[in-house]
Amino acid sequence: MRSLTGYQILQMWEIGQTQHPIDRALTFLSFAYPEKSADELAALSIGQRDAYLLTLRELTFGSKLESYAECPKCGERLEFTLNVSDIRVVDALSTLQREYTLTSGEYQLQFRLPNSKDLAAVVGYQDLNAVRNLIGQRCVLQTQREGIEINYSELPANVIIHLAQSMAEYDSQAEILLNLICPACSHSWQVLFDIVAFFWSELNTQAKRLLREVHTLARYYGWSEKDILSMSANRRNFYLDLVS
Ligand SMILES: [Zn+2]
Repeated sequence: MRSLTGYQILQMWEIGQTQHPIDRALTFLSFAYPEKSADELAALSIGQRDAYLLTLRELTFGSKLESYAECPKCGERLEFTLNVSDIRVVDALSTLQREYTLTSGEYQLQFRLPNSKDLAAVVGYQDLNAVRNLIGQRCVLQTQREGIEINYSELPANVIIHLAQSMAEYDSQAEILLNLICPACSHSWQVLFDIVAFFWSELNTQAKRLLREVHTLARYYGWSEKDILSMSANRRNFYLDLVS
């Protein structure tokens, strides 16, 4: 995997405009792994997907993530810096198992971890139980009760909850919770760190900056967009200083 070029950032930004975040994440990965098929990328577990995205983000914009949150109690705006290493729980290159086993009371389940296709299948569902159930239906490969094969639909609700917990534990990079404390009112709470949304917002800012730079340099020197974008940021900045 390599850092994204200015040209790639603009391409991703253009494609991502009209995409759902699940597809947007897959677009990012297709730039990071042009040799992998769309199907292979969509089959990565969500934790693995996010580990790759984190690496791509680090290579492109560095290891520090400037973040902010609003205190839910008093509305104070909190700015903080995260380090990629603080939120990386799995090595992007580590391989996950294809199948996992869960024993819950008298039930035994064989399952795989949810991937982008599974998430896409539950878009629009508001009810957490319905989501768990549907994800389970897609990811459970085999179900037994005291050694005898049964249907997924025969599993009690508590086993489905147990299954969801087990998936989250095995795919820990998929859910990064940050513990925050408000400096104004001392309220403490947790927020979910969403690498897809975070990276997209940065790409958005960066793409607009690049377009402005192209505009300035093209107008001054008459260079093409492609030529300007193929320069290193250092070289572009040098010219921008000269014309400002
Ligand atoms: Zn507060």
